Amino acid sequence: MKILQIDHIGVAVNSNAAGKQFWSDILGLPFEGEETVAEQKVTTAFLPVGESEVELLESTDPGGPIAKFLEKKGEGVHHIAFRVDDIDAALDELKNKGVKLIDETPRIGAGGARIAFLHPKATGGVLVELCQRD
Ligand code: ZN
Repeated sequence: MKILQIDHIGVAVNSNAAGKQFWSDILGLPFEGEETVAEQKVTTAFLPVGESEVELLESTDPGGPIAKFLEKKGEGVHHIAFRVDDIDAALDELKNKGVKLIDETPRIGAGGARIAFLHPKATGGVLVELCQRD
């Protein structure tokens, strides 16, 4: 498995508009638009930082994963995403190493990337996402 870089850091927020006030208006990161990923019940906002980005995650549904996270933990870092060169090979390797996965096979995330989440029980409590962009 080859991790190329941190692709993005996902930050759960009560609202992207409020998050923008700190991350963009104060820190000066460009706010490059939003995308709703219906399957994940989330609207993602993109704020590039060099080759990576901060992704704000606003829930679109009280039953969705971000709503549940906010309810339990409040706003804050939700996951770290590593960009890999070959997500299928990476998942195979992790399975062979006995790492518990949330996604056994990749699905399509924001920006059309192929993504998969590792189980936080296998990572010391950090929700880790793998991400491949072609
Ligand atoms: Zn992500």
